[in-house]
Amino acid sequence: VAPVLAVVGRPNVGKSTLVNRIIGRREAVVEDVPGVTRDRVSYEAEWSGVDFTLVDTGGWEVDAKGIDRMVADQAERAVDVADAVLFVVDATVGATATDEAVVKMLRRKGKPVILVANKVDGPSTEADAAALWSLGFGQPWPVSSLHGRGTGDLLDAVLDEL
Ligand code: GDP
Ligand code: MG
Repeated sequence: VAPVLAVVGRPNVGKSTLVNRIIGRREAVVEDVPGVTRDRVSYEAEWSGVDFTLVDTGGWEVDAKGIDRMVADQAERAVDVADAVLFVVDATVGATATDEAVVKMLRRKGKPVILVANKVDGPSTEADAAALWSLGFGQPWPVSSLHGRGTGDLLDAVLDEL
């Protein structure tokens, strides 16, 4: 059975764009509207001859009263079935309270976490990625899911965790 990698993070950080980039075709639904991915979706992927399953997450309703709880519940189900987690953060925004809620859940689960500092489209925003060391998951991997920058190094790091 191929190892399972869950892609988690708050809405609009670029999880589905990253999944599209890794699977190499535009299949996961990407929208500008936060929370557009309705359900968890699994994809077969491969890197350096290693097969794995990617689980995109989303589907949370935007509920002003309970969004932190909804994000945590959704991410939790994906993490429970995963061998490792790609935790995606928008480096251009920095760590938000919702990101911190995901951090707490991931600490409880104890699965290996690879921290993706997404939307680092060029060298001028590398410093935004470095700021995410503060999340406590080790090295933030600077990536542009949109353009593909840094995704090879990220996937090499992923294979080290599987
Ligand atoms: P999700 O809700 O986390 O799945 O986020 P999406 O993948 O739907 O992306 C949300 C928005 O961020 C879309 O407009 C994407 O085009 C944009 N986006 C995703 N990755 C990047 C990136 O690396 N750089 C930039 N500039 N925009 C990105
Ligand atoms: Mg999505």
